[in-house]
Amino acid sequence: MNHDRGPNAEWRARSLRAVWHPCTQMKLHEQGQPLLPVARAEGAWLFDHEGRRVLDGLSSWWVNLFGHNHPAIRDALVEQLHTLDHVMLAGCTHAPVVELSERLGALTGLGHAFYGSDGASATEIALKMSAHHWRNRGRPGKCRFVGLAGGYHGETVGALAVTDIALFREAYAPLVRLAATVASPDARGAEPGETARDVALRAAAVLETWLDEHHADTAALIVEPLIQCAAGMAMHHPEYLRRARALCDRYEVHLVVDEIATGFGRTGTLFAHQQAGIRPDLICLSKGLTGGTLPLSAVLCTDAVYEAFYDDHVARGFLHSHSYTGNPLACRAALAVLDLFESTQALERNVQTAQRLDAAFAPLNAHARVRHARRLGMVWAWDVADAPADFSRRYHRHALEHGLLLRPIGATMYAMPPYVIDDEGIEHLARGSLAALDATLAES
Ligand SMILES: *Cc1c(COP(=O)(O)O)cnc(C)c1O
Repeated sequence: MNHDRGPNAEWRARSLRAVWHPCTQMKLHEQGQPLLPVARAEGAWLFDHEGRRVLDGLSSWWVNLFGHNHPAIRDALVEQLHTLDHVMLAGCTHAPVVELSERLGALTGLGHAFYGSDGASATEIALKMSAHHWRNRGRPGKCRFVGLAGGYHGETVGALAVTDIALFREAYAPLVRLAATVASPDARGAEPGETARDVALRAAAVLETWLDEHHADTAALIVEPLIQCAAGMAMHHPEYLRRARALCDRYEVHLVVDEIATGFGRTGTLFAHQQAGIRPDLICLSKGLTGGTLPLSAVLCTDAVYEAFYDDHVARGFLHSHSYTGNPLACRAALAVLDLFESTQALERNVQTAQRLDAAFAPLNAHARVRHARRLGMVWAWDVADAPADFSRRYHRHALEHGLLLRPIGATMYAMPPYVIDDEGIEHLARGSLAALDATLAES
């Protein structure tokens, strides 16, 4: 890679002057951590301005499902663009938002889809909806929230209240009305002899104790079902969700499942909570919803939640909005994504794709420094023992040199490839992941 001249270097330099990049200490980009300038993308691959290709090993922050530039999604968007670009959704309606809401309702068993533009706004919507529901039911005291240790639900001020990641929250602590956190059912916390289910039961007992004491002022429990992704792909047994459901029923607390990262087939089922056979009170969707093409989020709820707002008084309604709520283009993209799940039998195909990836990752699983090699659906993760400080940044750089876009979370490496990854991509991902690990460890 030539960092000094050529179109890549020029875009890097202009970006650093004009763009404030997310979740980034900008100064590090001037110290051996070059930006990846992406000129175009196709399938699982990103291409820079000099024609070099990089495999998108984390589906561009978990949003991409069927690869970049998918012709079916692109065609649907182009057609929609020729028909209706956008119209406000208060007082107006349109086919894409109606059709999408009907289909999401049928798929989730919930109803009345409320739209936002990104994951954090879905979290905000769900929290406000839950607390306002209890207020409308004459129980305004039920307005606090509880989440899991290490939980991540977005980074706006409201969402940070339930995001238990110190690095993201510390600087804003005075702004945030902090929610309570209870023990995570993270299966890595197993004591010798304990199963993942045992850990789930232990964590559920903690939740029970907590709810027993605090249910009177608690509106909702919010959980990322089966995988707490930002916590480092912390996976748990579905029994936790069954217990949480039963406890929420007993203590009259909403169960909000945040499927922003786990939804749309990532964990093997269309939605992760389905593996526990439960029905949440509210569900948050985003990320894969549009297959990684446009920002869109949705919150769906039970009729019981909806009915608490249905009234003659305006103020009892859910008076929340975003300018682009229900954007027709984004909804049309989401409809094309749902069509692709059906026409390509994506969930069935992913079972086979995952098996091929499992085989390719076997040497990485067996690496002497790897602990807790794990996989659920189309998510792989490995913890690196005695990882050097700034492992993530170093690994990211070595991965790029091997033609891979990967960003470990702390000392946890993970892969979340687009579902369309082919055998060549699988080999490239598995070999490169291992080579980047060895290069990172050799350096320190
Ligand atoms: C990414 C994520 C969010 C936040 O979504 P944004 O679109 O980044 O605001 C919320 N919850 C979970 C589980 C996520 O993974």
